[in-house]
Amino acid sequence: MSDGVDYVIAGAGTAGCVLANRLSAEAGVTVTLIEAGPPDDDPAIRVPAMVAKAIGNPRQSWGYQSVPQAHADNRVLPVPRGRVLGGSSSINGMVYFRGHPREYDEWNQPGWRHADLWPYLQRLENYEAAHTPQRSRGGPVNVIDIAHPNPLVRRFLDAADTLGLPRCADFNGGDPEGFGPRQATIRNGRRESGVTAYLNPARHRTNLKIVTGALVTRVIFEGRRATGVEIERGGTRSIVKARREVIVACGAYGSPQLLQLSGVGDAAALESLGVAPLLDLPAVGRNLHDHPAASVSVRTANTESYGLSWRTVPRSVRIAAQYLLFRSGPLASNVFEANGFMRSRPEVDRPDLQIIFMPAHRNANGHWLPRGHGYGIIFVNLRPASRGSVTLVSNDPHDKPAIDFNFLAAPGDLDVLVRGFEVARSILSAPSFAPLAGQEISPGIQVRERAQIETHIRGSLVTVHHPCGTCRMGDVVDTSLRVKGIEALRVVDASVIPTVIAGNSNIPVTAVAERAADLIRGKLA
Ligand SMILES: Cc1cc2nc3c(=O)[nH]c(=O)nc-3n(C[C@H](O)[C@H](O)[C@H](O)COP(=O)(O)OP(=O)(O)OC[C@H]3O[C@@H](n4cnc5c(N)ncnc54)[C@H](O)[C@@H]3O)c2cc1C
Repeated sequence: MSDGVDYVIAGAGTAGCVLANRLSAEAGVTVTLIEAGPPDDDPAIRVPAMVAKAIGNPRQSWGYQSVPQAHADNRVLPVPRGRVLGGSSSINGMVYFRGHPREYDEWNQPGWRHADLWPYLQRLENYEAAHTPQRSRGGPVNVIDIAHPNPLVRRFLDAADTLGLPRCADFNGGDPEGFGPRQATIRNGRRESGVTAYLNPARHRTNLKIVTGALVTRVIFEGRRATGVEIERGGTRSIVKARREVIVACGAYGSPQLLQLSGVGDAAALESLGVAPLLDLPAVGRNLHDHPAASVSVRTANTESYGLSWRTVPRSVRIAAQYLLFRSGPLASNVFEANGFMRSRPEVDRPDLQIIFMPAHRNANGHWLPRGHGYGIIFVNLRPASRGSVTLVSNDPHDKPAIDFNFLAAPGDLDVLVRGFEVARSILSAPSFAPLAGQEISPGIQVRERAQIETHIRGSLVTVHHPCGTCRMGDVVDTSLRVKGIEALRVVDASVIPTVIAGNSNIPVTAVAERAADLIRGKLA
């Protein structure tokens, strides 16, 4: 057993990396950051276009699956999550999105309105093309416009114009509604993750210790005060003591799992699994929600798309050389380069539907680039009403928790996706795509009636990986992110977010962790 440090942070993902940097910035404050996964040394993590390879590497993923989804043909969905230094920020799609201001306001939590988080959204950013007061430079997270998007992106945006869908020049400039190019967390042609943005600049500090390959098995308590964590590393268990606080940053699946393993959760359910309850807090693990999505895919003989084929071998060689020599070109792109945010119905007050363009053939097998050529659209319900749960299946910390999204349980959730399907079809049928003579391979043009569309959606539904809410602020933690009823224990990550931001979640989590660091350091009331 060590003498202990001031702060023990469990989980070195997006939030954990921010906290490790900000808390250890104060001389004399000692911090230990503990990560279950390995260092982020897989080359696929670095090269933006190799994102499918990074996600598919079992060495750096938890390999979760959902329970059968009752409203999606009882299908078991794959649930990728980073189990590596940097967590999900080391395997994510690198899309940079701050979120619609009203999304934060609707959390309805004092101190967490958009105006409260705005200074942090500004502080974290280094937008290379900064050109408005809404955008900033000098922050740790590097943000770029993709310099040379795939030529199909032009066809996608032209199609949106043809349909009269409005343009949005900067999705991070205040009002993210319309169609346009996305921005990405990439620096010098390489992925910008929590590690590159926050951990690497702090690694040299003697008051910060980073431990990888160590599973946190439970939080330990004296009475109702958290005093450290138990870890398992190389088959041996030991305790790391925290003098000031334990901060749980294990993500939307890992944090409720760890709290429950530590006796904080639904007492009756915990007892039935052989976990001694410390505090009956049934909200732990509830309120799981995420963005459900489905897609329309087209195959074409045209070779404009990202992909590998015999006819494009010379181009592929050129692209590889361009990346190796200059870190530029298609390999320096995160592939999903344009999208639209729109309202599914005129009555809704802000976008609830995302239309993501895929300038590539469907890459079902985790190849680092897809075989063959094609394109398509993923349509996403941004504000789902369905809620699910993360629960223990046993008292063994090695067992994966049961993840139930309960997707499409709320009837209106399917309506938004049906509208998304219609928009996707219209865009892909627009004149700008006609010269490509594409053939719709999923679901196929025979699918036209509402019932057929619903069947396609239920049978192909996926998550786009933005789970939130399982240690919800207000229920499980207070507005200082302290676990209610427990001393010296906070949760800081996607799990505290009450309602998922209508868009990508990495930057909202980063902003939450930035503000949490100020709270912990006593810089805020
Ligand atoms: C495939 C994929 C693509 C995505 N694409 C995008 C995108 O393009 N843009 C975007 O904005 N967002 C994207 N996201 C979402 C975004 O990355 C997440 O919202 C964000 O990383 C969540 O941060 P977090 O700190 O809550 O959790 P994580 O980053 O998941 O971190 C949790 C960390 O805790 C560790 N951990 C868990 N349990 C334990 C334990 N018991 N002991 C020790 N360590 C533990 C994990 O290994 C992990 O490192 C994507 C996510 C995925 C998975």
